[in-house]
Amino acid sequence: MLDLTYEAPKPKVIAGAKQDWELVIGLEVHAQVSSNAKLFSGASTQFGAEPNSNVAFVDAGMPGMLPVINEGCVALAVKTGLGLKAQINLTSAFDRKNYFYPDLPQGYQISQLYHPIVGEGEVLVDMGPGVARLVRIERIHLEQDAGKSIHDMDPHMSFVDLNRTGVALMEIVSRPDIRGPEEAAAYVSKLRQILRYLGTCDGNMQNGNLRADVNVSVCAPGAYEKYQATQDFSHLGTRCEIKNMNSMRFIQQAIDHEARRQIAILEDGGKIVQETRLYDPDKGETRSMRSKEEAHDYRYFPCPDLLPLEIEQAWVDEIAATLPELPDEKKARFVTEFGMTEYDAGVLTASAESAAYFEEVAKGRDGKLAANWVINELFGRLKKEDHDITKSPVSAAQLGGIIELISKGDISGKIAKDLFEIVYTEGGDPAQIVEDRGMKQVTDTGAIEAAVDKVIAENPAQVEKARQNPKLAGWFVGQVMKATGGKANPKAVNQIVAAKLAQ
Ligand code: ADP
Ligand code: MG
Repeated sequence: MLDLTYEAPKPKVIAGAKQDWELVIGLEVHAQVSSNAKLFSGASTQFGAEPNSNVAFVDAGMPGMLPVINEGCVALAVKTGLGLKAQINLTSAFDRKNYFYPDLPQGYQISQLYHPIVGEGEVLVDMGPGVARLVRIERIHLEQDAGKSIHDMDPHMSFVDLNRTGVALMEIVSRPDIRGPEEAAAYVSKLRQILRYLGTCDGNMQNGNLRADVNVSVCAPGAYEKYQATQDFSHLGTRCEIKNMNSMRFIQQAIDHEARRQIAILEDGGKIVQETRLYDPDKGETRSMRSKEEAHDYRYFPCPDLLPLEIEQAWVDEIAATLPELPDEKKARFVTEFGMTEYDAGVLTASAESAAYFEEVAKGRDGKLAANWVINELFGRLKKEDHDITKSPVSAAQLGGIIELISKGDISGKIAKDLFEIVYTEGGDPAQIVEDRGMKQVTDTGAIEAAVDKVIAENPAQVEKARQNPKLAGWFVGQVMKATGGKANPKAVNQIVAAKLAQ
């Protein structure tokens, strides 16, 4: 593992307040399970389908219909738990959370309040090279998603789309261990990265496949340490929950606004009322949605349609055997195996796809050079066109070919960039292109000497100056490179120029 500094979380202190306040944040992340079928029915989960086309009778709450648990979803929840180093509960159970909503035809949501499938785990949140913070996971439970009410399609009517109804969600609940807006975003990003590596949720926030309820409270300095020491929540301030955030940027903005709102109330002698709020990014404020409901308001009770969920340790072990190498481990391995910086390893392991691409480029080649080319040239170029690595027009084999040509000294770094551009836009075999277009580096010292002699002969005044001031030798190097179309070996040119000027 990496040699990380576990920094005590630095709390965000809000400037402009009369006194110092610290933030305390806990997140409930809803992650849609990557499953083609819903949690309790065989209906499809395809995004963007015709409204109300992916609805089984049980999803529509038809009388007498019975839910049947989707084993695949259970396996993915277990896999997620294992990926978050969490305890897997061999017995869990489903409860009904009762409420009325037009897009909830059953009149209740099937969830797991009392016995979730996954217990305590952890996420290491990266806050920059060498610094990571541990956020504890309290639990992960499986539950159904609700449908969607649409209010903006018609001036007089609202519509209901039940395609989402019954889709499997994992609710991943953190402890209130997050201490600032940036850390909250870094936590969600790390969680999303792990879920994507695991293949248990695609992490698409735009489609709502990953969204977070953000709980925020403020407290005086020192109070959080007391909570940490005792796990007694009464040391913390009253929290408000901001619902359904589906962008990293909005999560940060909402926390900042909410903290300021709470501080203003407290400094005015007021009290925070525990409630559910909504963030309005246009106005840059959070607004009250409803007062906080308690579990008993939902009259939770064990779902009589479903038996307790019993799984076997042997099955959990089978799933554990399928876990991929996860981001923290992969990053640590890249640092030791390729001698790269932790920062570079972090960039390359941001997704499993980019890490695999890099490893293919680096295989049997100069790892540091490969890292440099993948990060600076390829990622830089892809970013310009808003492509990700899976859409790279340059394959790992092609980039590997370019790197081999550099390593063998066949092409200079400068020519390599031109070659990369050709491969990127036109495709082709790098070695063949170099051959066909005469891009090979001139290492023939005779040819370079001739070019140096010519430049020296044509510029006597410059020669005089350079003899007084050796720093001016660079000008000759530049001239020779120009004369050879950038193909002369720069190291050889430097040496020959220096030798000739010294004569
Ligand atoms: P509910 O669903 O009723 O909101 P949960 O137990 O599911 O309750 O989630 C509560 C979330 O609020 C957790 O992520 C927890 O860490 C967080 N939390 C609890 N107390 C505080 C607090 N004082 N300040 C900030 N976050 C808190
Ligand atoms: Mg909750």
